[in-house]
Amino acid sequence: MKTFPMFLRMTGRTVVIAGGGEQAAQKARLILKTEARLLLAAPALDPELAALVASGRASHHPGPVTADTFQNAALAFIATGCPALDAALATLSRAAGTVTNTVDQPELCDAFTPSIVDRDPLVVAIGTEGAAPVLARQVKTRIETMLEPRLGEFTAMAGRMREAVARSIPKPARRAFWRWAFTEAPRRLHAAGSEREAARALKEAVAKGLPEATGLISLVGAGPGARDLLTLRAVQRLQEADVIFYDRLVDPEVLELARRDAERVFVGKEVGACSWPQHKIDAVIVAAARAGQRVVRLKSGDPGIFGRATEELAAARAHGITVEIVPGVTAASASAAARGRSLTERGATDRVVFATGTCRAGDAAPDWGALCTPGTTLALYMGVARAAEIEANLLAAGVPATAEVEITCSASTAAERHLACTLSDLARTVTGEAVANPAIILVRNSKQRAAVAEIVPAAARPALALAASA
Ligand code: SAH
Repeated sequence: MKTFPMFLRMTGRTVVIAGGGEQAAQKARLILKTEARLLLAAPALDPELAALVASGRASHHPGPVTADTFQNAALAFIATGCPALDAALATLSRAAGTVTNTVDQPELCDAFTPSIVDRDPLVVAIGTEGAAPVLARQVKTRIETMLEPRLGEFTAMAGRMREAVARSIPKPARRAFWRWAFTEAPRRLHAAGSEREAARALKEAVAKGLPEATGLISLVGAGPGARDLLTLRAVQRLQEADVIFYDRLVDPEVLELARRDAERVFVGKEVGACSWPQHKIDAVIVAAARAGQRVVRLKSGDPGIFGRATEELAAARAHGITVEIVPGVTAASASAAARGRSLTERGATDRVVFATGTCRAGDAAPDWGALCTPGTTLALYMGVARAAEIEANLLAAGVPATAEVEITCSASTAAERHLACTLSDLARTVTGEAVANPAIILVRNSKQRAAVAEIVPAAARPALALAASA
């Protein structure tokens, strides 16, 4: 970092602005948000600045300006509108040892003004060291939309209660209290305009403790890999989590969205090993939630699709723990999207079947014919190792040898890879191209294709195709 962000104390201090025109007025508007005294150093002031002086919000130093003018100021803005004059004034200000910002002359700046999101006392400052002011503004806009307009007042209310909370709530429980205050009823009530109710909820919780145990398990869908395919709710849960239990397929980028001090526990199964059997995962998430922690069980894709969610839901409910599912983008959706193609195609496929190529040992074999009747897009998860078996079974069930197959590996990640073939080439493609997991195999048993193959004799097909394109 060439510059380091800090928040300067402004109460009881002076900020000098050299200049009396529009540039100076822009800086004055910024400093008026603070508690600093404003000293305007310029022979003449424009009406806006003159009004500030008249109202007592600023004082006026008509001249002459010397290094003394800047002495002991918290900050100086040099903004006369004349670059040569600015340079001379900046030299005086810096000679006085004052942190100086000179408009449009970065080499004459000790400090730069950030883009600011103002929910005072919550203040977000964004800077790019001058590399991309437009980006700073884009980031500002996004943060503005994340923080409700009245969050500052609520933050101030919470600040006023800090001492009372520290007095009556022992330290270990304090963080849970504040997390509750900023995520549950108090903040929600305040954001909705019910200030008094919010204050009452806070005071009641200080007096009588939190309304109910806050242990919660969220089974959160991490999506297929790319972190911008997480839902906003998933990000929120990650940021609230005390502990995150995550799988092998969850991208490290996604974990970066969590709070820095949240505990992260890898419970995935390394290929070939099985160090975390399901019952052990069930037990640890339940134990963490019973200890009052916010638990996120982060699973790839959608937790409700081949994600063993049922076992974890049952374990949580058996212990009376609140549990929820935060859905995610499943691998089949991401695979089709990555190819720029829809999972269903009107007139060709009007049904999507999510199936696994790998069932539980001892389960009956799937009814392949029923899985992929004409008009179906069959999305096969965990199918790579069984490609030969899948191909043989689908062909035997009557799916046309020419049915389109798309294989997408690591959809939405940097390692994304696409292959296309026909059903009769599936096994050969998987082996020949050394297709690696994770991969989705999409088999499209299109109605039209099936209809053409079944009804129209081979000799007549070119004529039909011609007619269709006419
Ligand atoms: N709950 C997950 C699926 C877990 S099962 C979901 O909804 O997506 C694991 C299988 O999902 C893998 O074997 C693979 O078939 C598929 N998979 C997961 N992530 C994938 C990705 N990024 N690209 C392709 N397939 C993926």
